Amino acid sequence: MLTLREFSAGLWLTELQLEEFDVRGVLLLTAHHAIIWDTLSHPRDMEPLLPLIADKTLTVIYSHADWDHVWGTAGLPAAEIVAHADCLARFSADVPAYLAQKQAAEPSRWDAVRLLPPIRTFDQPLTLTFDSLTIELHHLPGHTLDCIVAFLPTLGILLAGDTVETPLPVVNDDSPIQPWLVELDRWASDSRVQIVIPAHGRIGGRDIIVQTAQYLRNGLNGTKMDFPEPLDAFYKETHDKNLTLLKTE
Ligand SMILES: [Zn+2]
Repeated sequence: MLTLREFSAGLWLTELQLEEFDVRGVLLLTAHHAIIWDTLSHPRDMEPLLPLIADKTLTVIYSHADWDHVWGTAGLPAAEIVAHADCLARFSADVPAYLAQKQAAEPSRWDAVRLLPPIRTFDQPLTLTFDSLTIELHHLPGHTLDCIVAFLPTLGILLAGDTVETPLPVVNDDSPIQPWLVELDRWASDSRVQIVIPAHGRIGGRDIIVQTAQYLRNGLNGTKMDFPEPLDAFYKETHDKNLTLLKTE
C-alpha cells in the first residue's frame, strides 16, 4: 500500500512497503508539469498519484532499471520517460528476464506489469527545465551501472536513488566501487546539497552520503562495522553478501 506525503511545496514522497524492504519515489509538481522519479513495483502503486497529476504533462525519470523502481509505469499517462543509456540497455536484458521469472512464480500477482523502456536517454549530464523547476541528471554508477542521481538546485535536494542507502547500500557483482566512491565524495562535499532523499532508508543531509561511502571503504579495508540499530533480516543478509563482494575487489 502506497503512502503519499507532501515533503515540501510541490514535492511529494511516494513510499511503499514491499515484502523485504521499503522503497521511495518522488512526485514533483509545477504549474504545467508532473515529474515522477521512479514508478515503484506495480501499476497499482501509482494510482494514488493520478488525481495530483490531473492534466499536467507527465515526465517519468528512472533512477535505474531495478524492478522496484520501474514496474509501475504502465499505470501512468507518461508523455516522456528519461533515464541513462545503460538503463535502456537493461530493458533488452535482465529487466524482462526478471519479470518473466516473477510472473512464472506468482502468475496473477504481476500480470498487470508492462515494461516501458526509457524514451529519452543521456550519457552526459542532462538538465531538464519544467516551468520554474530545474532538474540536473547525473550518472552515478554504483549499486548498478545505470544508476543516476537527480539534483534540484533551487531546492538543494539530491534524489539519490540506490546510490545512497541506510543502514547500508546494496552491492552487486558488477558494482563499480571506485567510480561509486569518487562520485559519492564529490556530492558529499557539494555544499549546495542540503537534503538527500534516497530510495531506501532514511532521508538525511550529506551525512548519509558520507555514511554510505564510509561503509564501502570499511568493507574494502576489512574494518569491523557496528550499526546504531540491529540489522533486520534483509540488511543482515545484504551486509554478509556485500562483505564477500567488497573483499574480492
Ligand atoms: Zn532499489
